[in-house]
Amino acid sequence: MRFDEFELNDQLLEAISYMGFEKASPIQEKAIPEILNNHDLIAFAQTGTGKTAAFVLPILHKIAQNPDSGINTLIIVPTRELAIQIEQQIQGFSYFLPVNSIAIYGGGDGADYSVEAKALKKHTDIIVATPGRMISHLNVGKINFENLKHLVLDEADRMLDMGFYDDIMRIVSYLPKKRQTLMFSATMPPKIKKLAQSILIKPKEISIELSKPAEGVVQEAYFVGDELKTRLITHILAEKKEYSSVLIFTSTKAKVNKIASGLRGKGYRVEGISSDLDQKRREEVLMEFRSHRARVLVATDVLSRGIDIKEISLIINYDVPHDAEDYVHRVGRTARAETTGVAITLINKSEYRKFLRIEKLIGKEVPKIGLPPELGNNSEAEPPSEQRIFKQNKKNFRRPKRAPNRDNPAEKHS
Ligand code: ADP
Ligand code: MG
Repeated sequence: MRFDEFELNDQLLEAISYMGFEKASPIQEKAIPEILNNHDLIAFAQTGTGKTAAFVLPILHKIAQNPDSGINTLIIVPTRELAIQIEQQIQGFSYFLPVNSIAIYGGGDGADYSVEAKALKKHTDIIVATPGRMISHLNVGKINFENLKHLVLDEADRMLDMGFYDDIMRIVSYLPKKRQTLMFSATMPPKIKKLAQSILIKPKEISIELSKPAEGVVQEAYFVGDELKTRLITHILAEKKEYSSVLIFTSTKAKVNKIASGLRGKGYRVEGISSDLDQKRREEVLMEFRSHRARVLVATDVLSRGIDIKEISLIINYDVPHDAEDYVHRVGRTARAETTGVAITLINKSEYRKFLRIEKLIGKEVPKIGLPPELGNNSEAEPPSEQRIFKQNKKNFRRPKRAPNRDNPAEKHS
């Protein structure tokens, strides 16, 4: 689902596209409409599924539609790193909106404290705070929460693990009873339910189930430029003769034919399948593959979800799928029902970041294998440095000229 389908504020949509977000993730797709409809919400989804934008976007939309004079939203998070990170995302998404935000966290010096205290007295729409620091501000001065509309608890499970239950309840006691409360959590322990019962009112519950790749899948990856990908696959097919059914995924249908004909040129029996084929032709192609007349099938993601082909021993991701969830679906085509299988991903420079996101989602690093020497010089054998990724992104996305100044939340209005 695209973001404009949520009918979000135009300036907000513009910022979303500058941030490089194209499609809403599953948690965003479910949570954004509920939040726009003012329901309380408890949402469970794994790390890396996009929970931040799931609550930040609808809240920003509401503030933009109804600018307020006081503190509109309080977001409580377990750590200072998370407070900083979320506040930066808010700054990005609100770049074209008259919305102010500040991160409030412990560990800084006295100067930080007084900047925070000042911001709490002035017009600041969104506060992102760690529980301890919030409480120390509450202890010192009166903070006007009269206009507060939203309370968000992010990583609620982690906050409870860290012993913040009492702090959270204490902060909540300062807030208006009539408000929208949103709770996000990666896991679903019983104490979360208890917290939810005490601070949420008739919440909608969302949980995104994501099946991790089956235990039996051996996952590997190569850093390799596009120009060498077909040769590498040929090499793998020759090396691993025991893999009689090989499924190659690519993200666009245009590439299906290119890859298939490249491999046919090397003497392999290859079929390609994409939504371009009519139903009858698709079935014929699948039959060729199932009956092992064709050893290799090249397919797009659209085809990966439904098709149940047994005994696929080797999956090759010709490119890194755009959605991290698609990776799980692709890899899930092998090692079904407790058999074993291998999934190999070919990563070029521009895909490196996407792959990091996948590793975050599946919760582990996929081993990277060096290219076989006979393929010659591989310019992409090393993962790109952070700096190169940054430069590349700067080229692709025109980012806001200058990040708004944290010390002066009023600055963006001028
Ligand atoms: P979570 O809180 O669920 O762990 P985050 O909100 O931190 O996940 O998001 C994880 C990463 O995915 C971040 O780098 C974020 O910018 C990116 N991301 C989130 N939603 C999208 C989207 N719709 N499109 C592209 N990237 C996204
Ligand atoms: Mg998060």
